[in-house]
Formats: sequence, C-alpha cells, structure tokens
Amino acid sequence: MNVLVAGGAGYVGSHAVAALQESGHTPIVLDTLELGHREACRDAELVVGDTADYDLVTHVLKEFEIDTVMHFAAYSRVGESMEEPLKYYINNVVGTLKLIQAMMDTGVKRFIFSSTAATYGEPEKMPIEESITKCPINVYGHSKLEVEEACQWLSKTSDFKYVAFRYFNACGAHKSGEVGEDHEVETHLIPLILQVPMGKREAISIFGTDYDTPDGTCIRDYIHVSDLADAHVRGIDYLVKGGESGAMNLGTGSGYSVRQIIDAARKVTGQEIKAVEAPRRAGDPSELVARADKANNALGWKPVQSDLETIIGSAWLWHKNHPNGYAS
Ligand code: UDP
Repeated sequence: MNVLVAGGAGYVGSHAVAALQESGHTPIVLDTLELGHREACRDAELVVGDTADYDLVTHVLKEFEIDTVMHFAAYSRVGESMEEPLKYYINNVVGTLKLIQAMMDTGVKRFIFSSTAATYGEPEKMPIEESITKCPINVYGHSKLEVEEACQWLSKTSDFKYVAFRYFNACGAHKSGEVGEDHEVETHLIPLILQVPMGKREAISIFGTDYDTPDGTCIRDYIHVSDLADAHVRGIDYLVKGGESGAMNLGTGSGYSVRQIIDAARKVTGQEIKAVEAPRRAGDPSELVARADKANNALGWKPVQSDLETIIGSAWLWHKNHPNGYAS
C-alpha cells in the first residue's frame, strides 16, 4: 500500500518508514524538516511541506494514490507546550485537522495517529487502561487528546476510520544502527544517560529520589521504537479488515525505575556512568505503566525488542555510529 507518513523524518516516524518498507509497503514522507532529518527517511520519497498546507496535501494524496495516512508530525516537548501553548494547538490540533480535511476531500479514509500516554495525566491505578477518565496535565497531552476526540466524532459521523496509538516511553533505535533518536534539545532519559559514556556529559541527574516507589525514583514503561513502528504497520491491516476505530495503548505492561535504567545502561556499555541525585522535575507522575491487552489482541501485536538490553543496546549502537546525530 502507498502510505503517507506525515512526520516521517522524525524519531518515531522514521522507524515507521523503515517498518513499512520492510513489510512491502511504500511510504511517502511529508515533513517540514523543521525538526526531522532528511537522512532519517533513507531512500523513501520525501515531500518537504506542512500538514496544514491543504493544496499540497491534497496534491500528494492524489499524486501518490495514498491508501492510508500515518501521522507523526507534531511538537512534543512537554515543557515548551506550557510556555507556548498556542504553538502546540495550532500545529498539533489545527495542522492535524487540515490534514484530515484533505484526506476526506480526496477519499482517503484510513488514519493512524501518533498519540501519547500524556493524554491520561496522573492516573492512580496502574496499569493504565484506555477507558479511564483522561485529565492531561500539560498542553502537549491535551493537544493530542483533542485530536483523538475529533477523530472519534468523525468516525461516528462519516466513513473515516482511525486508530490512535497512545505511546508510553518510546526509546531505542533501528537494529541497523542507521536510524535513531536525534532531537535538537534532548530531554529523554536514555539518550541523556548515554551521553555520559559518550563523553558529552559528566553525569546523569536522577530527577527525584523520594517518590513512593521501591527505590524512590520514577517508574516508566519503556517501549522500543521499532515495536511501536510494527504496531502502526499492523494498524493498516486492522483498519482494512474493518477493525473498530479507537485508541490503543502501546507499552510493555512492565515498569522500570530511573535507577534500573541507569544500571542497565552500565551493563550494556560496560562503563561506570556517574549518576547524581537531583530534585524532582515538575509534572512527573511517579509511575506510568500501560495495560496493552487491547493492542495485543486487536493487532496480534507483542513487543519483541523491548527488553532493556535490546533497547539500550540499539540506542548505544546508534549513538556510537552517529555521535553528532544525523548530518543534517
Ligand atoms: N529523568 C531523569 N533524568 C533525566 C531525564 C529524565 O531522572 O535527565 C527521569 C524523568 O524524571 C522520568 C523518567 O526519567 O521519571 C523518564 O523521563 P523522559 O523524559 O525520558 O520521559 P517522560 O516519562 O517524561 O515522557
């Protein structure tokens, strides 16, 4: 199938491009390259442009005879979303609605949307089920929830079909070591830890050691980016076969603490990795772990690369091969 991958030059999108190619589909990337990287798309067709550019998107949908749209193009920094909320609503919500408008006007009906566990906020009960009440605690999470809700109404009122995947902590890199994580401003735990053995950072800060968890540090559900990509490819088949529109968690169902991740990185890299205790980071819930039975059952999906050794080993290979990220 010909699949438009909006944001295909970004971290998760580029792994979806690789997974689509590996499973015989043809990805066509649409990316502004504001945050994405041309080399991340490798040999896939790349159209440089914005999802909000209705004329361009309708042209691309028709020209490439697109069957399904996967949408990864979004701003995703939680802190920035609180400082510049409108930037997030305009890009993540308005930009997505324009993309969907172009789809509907050209008869493209299948939509696979990159959503987030940040739509939940700070739930009390773990693991998190899709159906719980959502109370996002930041603009980023709310912007994704707004799109999900619009998709829900569109699927009720037209023949628009969608799956929204709520990612837990995306991490790791493609097994080739040639596609990986390269953010202009890095805030994520695993790449920051690996900057220590890379010689780019003296120590990793542990944000908060007084949480109500076994070792006092936050617990997250770390899911390999290639497992996320695999779920998206399965999502196409799910929708083609008439699967019900809706949202699904993508996580492993197992949580690891910050200290456990640092220990695993020490083992994988064979290096000491200095860690220092630091105050809590604002807005961090103590624990976020997915219940992923819905995706397991509906898609026949199981994470197969999400053990800590494979996650950190693949990220380490990528960073060693590309100490300064992509060339562009
Ligand atoms: N974290 C940390 N030190 C860092 C970066 C992150 O202790 O330098 C912690 C953070 O507080 C959270 C976990 O690592 O508990 C995962 O953070 P990340 O930013 O990777 O993902 P998030 O869960 O915020 O989406």
